[in-house]
Amino acid sequence: MADVRAKPVPVPDGISRHYWEGANLGEFRYQRCGACGKAQFYARSACVHCHATQLQWQKAGGGGRIASFSVIHRAPLPAFAGDVPYVLALVDLDEGLRFMCNVLRCDPAQVRIGMPVRVCFESRPGSEQTIPQVEPA
Ligand SMILES: [Zn+2]
Repeated sequence: MADVRAKPVPVPDGISRHYWEGANLGEFRYQRCGACGKAQFYARSACVHCHATQLQWQKAGGGGRIASFSVIHRAPLPAFAGDVPYVLALVDLDEGLRFMCNVLRCDPAQVRIGMPVRVCFESRPGSEQTIPQVEPA
């Protein structure tokens, strides 16, 4: 039986493996379409904009801004009970993609839409996988 005190960790598959391997190297990797040039996140086998399959992996610089957020006061799992209140956010990275993450190392009351952030990487006890998150820039 899984330890309910342990936070969940991703299980990389054939499409997401490059993203998760990058996270363990301190890189935020994303796909850019070789046909239309648009970025997409999360990883898929075809472009969500034009359906082309010529996707290229690139590294994001790590800068972005908060697009939207919510302060979580009730933990969804026992493993997160020690973190409340914490911030769940949609972040627009400078490369033109949006991803969901937690905003770490800040007072939730200080988070604002448009706030500059940078990607950081969270370790999870019991796992070798790091999780891309953000912190105030
Ligand atoms: Zn495309």
